[in-house]
Amino acid sequence: SAKSGGRGAFRFFEPELDQLMHARRNLERDMRDALAGREFELHYQPFVNTATGEIRGFEALLRWHHPRRGLVLPGEFIPLAEEAGLIVPLGEWVLRTACAEAAKWPAHLRIAINLSPAQFRSKELVPVIVDALASSGISPHRLELEVTETVIMHDSEAVFAALGQLRELGVRIALDDFGTGYSSLSFLQRFPFDKIKVDRSFVNELSSTRADAHHLARAVVRFAVSLGKTTTAEGVETKEQLDVLREEGCVETQGYYFGRPMPASAIAKMLRRGDKAAVCAA
Ligand code: C2E
Ligand code: MG
Ligand code: MG
Ligand code: MG
Repeated sequence: SAKSGGRGAFRFFEPELDQLMHARRNLERDMRDALAGREFELHYQPFVNTATGEIRGFEALLRWHHPRRGLVLPGEFIPLAEEAGLIVPLGEWVLRTACAEAAKWPAHLRIAINLSPAQFRSKELVPVIVDALASSGISPHRLELEVTETVIMHDSEAVFAALGQLRELGVRIALDDFGTGYSSLSFLQRFPFDKIKVDRSFVNELSSTRADAHHLARAVVRFAVSLGKTTTAEGVETKEQLDVLREEGCVETQGYYFGRPMPASAIAKMLRRGDKAAVCAA
């Protein structure tokens, strides 16, 4: 370890560490500028009815067009935005932008938005959502909020209260990345959700040639379906995976097989064409 290696071991890594810290600070500073400028964009990925292939709605996924680095994906900047306290204003921008975009779509289509735990710690979350709904004019029933289990791990009283208020408005709560966290059975009983999204790592294993991996993945899907909420499979890429999901009664699917995340303009165009075809290829 570094400790047993003495100071020398630390010194060896110092320049690299320093560079890393420097890069992070730069990225944080850039993010503040980006929020003021127009460098963030939302892409939208369809989720469809597994049985019919019809589009049920779109998930908003954040993209950052960095002036020098090009496209930066959320896996890289969301954790930084959380640490830097920027996720609350950034998340508010996402909520308002996505609701305004959904207002242009046919009214049966839903909009799913990802929320970070830090947004739940902000007193402003519920009022901001109420206002985003009012100013866009979309019905609360069209809005789905995706949260991971980590949201419940902090400050659960306040989080449960916010979730309750949102559900009373008619907003749906989805448990994202199911199977990757710490879900105990008692957590699933207490957590007030409407939809469960099976993580793509399991969906991927549905087409595994390894019997044990395949069986575990199938069991996760079956378990999710048995909870009696809407089950969505994330990251569906093949016909083979889709066939298993149909067999297991998974209500919704999402993944590159049906469509990649696309800019708002491409979605609008697709909806104008009445593009069920792109999706019904299945
Ligand atoms: P997530 O909510 O689980 O979103 C699904 C991720 O899987 C997205 O990655 C999506 O592009 C990717 N994906 C969808 N279908 C497929 C597929 O068939 N194959 C593969 N390999 N990947 C697929 P993305 O856009 O990079 O987002 C990563 C994560 O960043 C999201 O995971 C979500 O947790 C977070 N995120 C994205 N946008 C926001 C946001 O506006 N706010 C917050 N707080 N988090 C966000
Ligand atoms: Mg999500
Ligand atoms: Mg997910
Ligand atoms: Mg995820």
